[in-house]
Amino acid sequence: MKDDIPEARREHSLTAKASAGTRSSIFLGLGTAVIVLAAVSAWVILRWPTSKTAQAPAPTAPTAAPSAVAASPSPDILLGHFAYKEAPQTDLKSITPDGRVKLRAAAAQKFMAMVASAQSAGVVLLPLSGYRSIQDQNYLFFDVKAERGQVTTERAQVSAPPGHSEHHTGYAIDIGDGSQPDTHLKPSFETSAAFRWLAANAAYYSFELSFPAHNQQGVSYEPWHWRYVGNQDSLKTFYKARQAKKPPD
Ligand SMILES: [Zn+2]
Repeated sequence: MKDDIPEARREHSLTAKASAGTRSSIFLGLGTAVIVLAAVSAWVILRWPTSKTAQAPAPTAPTAAPSAVAASPSPDILLGHFAYKEAPQTDLKSITPDGRVKLRAAAAQKFMAMVASAQSAGVVLLPLSGYRSIQDQNYLFFDVKAERGQVTTERAQVSAPPGHSEHHTGYAIDIGDGSQPDTHLKPSFETSAAFRWLAANAAYYSFELSFPAHNQQGVSYEPWHWRYVGNQDSLKTFYKARQAKKPPD
């Protein structure tokens, strides 16, 4: 490879009938040229792809400046959890007699229908936790983390940081089996009659499991945590969080 260029040039020089001294100086000059050419070629080959990559974003930066942050292709994720807004208080409906567990109206209605249907099959679906404010999640994430002596990444596998829980949306619910309280909020819930019923029927009520085993999000398997995706708002809430954020309207 290195000899290709000089040979061609050397033949051309020889046909010019140069003297011995001139020839040797031509060879010397050619030798230097070969080294310089080789060095330049090597530099170009080695540097070109990296300098090209490094320079690529530069031209887009000035034109995209005002909306650059909003148009960022990376979704808002913290410790593997997507960001969610709190549900509007006016849309929350109680799904327990004591009013402790609430969901957004559409999800509440379907959940109650699901409870009735399961009941007729002899299965008791027990609502354990529905809507949570960011303040509630603050306690669950930080205080419980400290109580249990968990490190942040360990805590994030089983609980979302405040502002990043599906429970903020009012569309997510933790469900227990009324006849097997020992399985509440535990992976063993998957052996309960309630889970078996949910796995077979929840989709008919537009509920789906948020964190199946080995989910891409890296959150621990939570067979008890289900979310409602039966209308446009809930669907957007969960699936748009996974896509690039669009610029503000
Ligand atoms: Zn949950």
